[in-house]
Amino acid sequence: MCGIIGYTGQTYLASKIVLDGLERLEYRGYDSAGLAILTNGEISVKRDSGKLRNIREGLESGLPSNHLAIGHTRWATHGRPTQDNAHPHKDNNSRIVLVHNGIIENYLQLKSTLLEKGHKFLSDTDTEIIVHLLAENEKHEASFKDAFFKTLGQLEGAWALSVVHVDYPDTIFIAKKNCPLLIGLTEDEGNFVSSDITAIIKYTRDVVYLEDHQAGMLTPGNLDLFDTKTKTQINYNVERVDWNPVMAEKNGYRHFMLKEIHEQPDVIRNTIGTNTNEEDGSVYLPDINMSNDDLLGIRKIIVVACGTAFYAGLVGKYLVEKLARVSVEMDLASEFRYRDPVLDKDTLVIAVTQSGETADTLAAINLAKERGCKTMAIVNVQGSSIARAVDGNIFIHAGPEIGVASTKAYMAMLVAFELFALYLANLKSTIEVAVAKQLIHELKVIPQKIEEVLKDKEDILKIAQKYTQYKSMLFLGRDLNFPTALEGALKLKEISYIHAEGYAAGEMKHGPIALVDRECPVVAVVTDSPVYEKVVSNIVEARSRDCRVLSIASKGDKEVQGFSDDVIKVPKVMDLLSPLLNVLPLQLFAYYVADLKGADVDQPRNLAKSVTVE
Ligand code: GLU
Repeated sequence: MCGIIGYTGQTYLASKIVLDGLERLEYRGYDSAGLAILTNGEISVKRDSGKLRNIREGLESGLPSNHLAIGHTRWATHGRPTQDNAHPHKDNNSRIVLVHNGIIENYLQLKSTLLEKGHKFLSDTDTEIIVHLLAENEKHEASFKDAFFKTLGQLEGAWALSVVHVDYPDTIFIAKKNCPLLIGLTEDEGNFVSSDITAIIKYTRDVVYLEDHQAGMLTPGNLDLFDTKTKTQINYNVERVDWNPVMAEKNGYRHFMLKEIHEQPDVIRNTIGTNTNEEDGSVYLPDINMSNDDLLGIRKIIVVACGTAFYAGLVGKYLVEKLARVSVEMDLASEFRYRDPVLDKDTLVIAVTQSGETADTLAAINLAKERGCKTMAIVNVQGSSIARAVDGNIFIHAGPEIGVASTKAYMAMLVAFELFALYLANLKSTIEVAVAKQLIHELKVIPQKIEEVLKDKEDILKIAQKYTQYKSMLFLGRDLNFPTALEGALKLKEISYIHAEGYAAGEMKHGPIALVDRECPVVAVVTDSPVYEKVVSNIVEARSRDCRVLSIASKGDKEVQGFSDDVIKVPKVMDLLSPLLNVLPLQLFAYYVADLKGADVDQPRNLAKSVTVE
């Protein structure tokens, strides 16, 4: 949520680098965009509400030659998405300028003191107090560096900050607490600061992930980092990122979301990697970092997650309980952290998160650690805050996910849960070796089956055309595919703005069936499974109320036409793996409905990727 990028270097292209980086970060927030350029001892700021193109136009031809620039794409937390509230923010003398991700919780107290001292505020943001506080502290401190550290000590809340001062024309002052920030280093091409590796991967894969309570100075040839609590300089590790620049491009697809849907076969292959053995049914989890005794001692698992990751976790619950016979509770991370959950050292808390930076999920993990639980993450970004906070990880190898509506990360999370459930089941001997071998065999064939469905995507487009005019839809599924229905509904609502609800099909009679009529179609997941007949009954009950029915069914199903208006067929698959295959047509359905309605598929209104604020 919110994207920050900065560059200080030898090349005269700083502003172009930052503008290009902002384009890559726009998925993190698009309420406004802006950049500050330092040229010949002067700071110029260009910012506007709305998308980046609003500042790009008019800037491109007149981009100044310079060595240092910082930029921001905003997801507004305090103050409307207007030009005045857009970052960067300047002090009243235009000597200091900054961009900020996060929330300053004590901004009202600080603001009233600063107003008394004569500072003039030009925005409604919490952010603007930081730049005034820096200017105020500079008057009393020996150096701007001291003022910077003093200011950080006065702030409460969360921040990733990049600050520039006219008197330090090659320095970006940086700081982090509870929001992601990383540094990209090069030998001689200058250095970068960014919220996300995707913005800078074109230039470098050598990265330093800042920790909370760190701050420092970045120049073209150097990075100095300090612990803001002890004020001492610290050593840091430079990590090499294994993503490549092509992964963050659209590769000829109309949207990132469509590209990412098509990447799913490879993502599944990469997440399985070489970690399974079909010969004996075993699974290897290289980063789980927990002994067999630790795992055998687990009495309860709690999965904490938000949004799509929560639904992946729900599939995980069904899998782990079915295969490994350990009780799994689901918790929305935003609830878990405040509801005083019952936790002990025999509880394993699993965070599920694409970015590894989701603020609520990170807070949930920190709470679990405080209470002595074991912790694990299913996560895409390897150096992320959550990946570093937990005892062990299962990395999902989805590559950069740019579409705000998650698709390939969800798919990879399901694969991770299949592997984890099987790993635990093998350890506890709750699964027969033959079933374990079959599961691995069939898991490896899923990518081919997904490719089969992708080949017929035009059929899904034709079906989608019949559903664009509806205002509301119900998605039904049962057992392992109840979460599939939830995820299908979420995909549709987030990108097409059609109201959609996912329900356990058996729950229909307890309320939601009252919504069903000609104007409210039902989308049902009714593939081969032990609950097939039950779901059919639920669909027939709904259809008796005149609604249109779209069914996701297995190839070879001869009955489904009898109770459906439209059918999308998927290849047959072992029930335990059906959520992987069944979500695919729902992703494509949501994509086509949204695109046909002319919605901005990759950047839906009010949303942003990587929710780094509470
Ligand atoms: N709280 C700041 C604002 O509303 C920053 C939000 C963000 O992280 O984009 O401007």
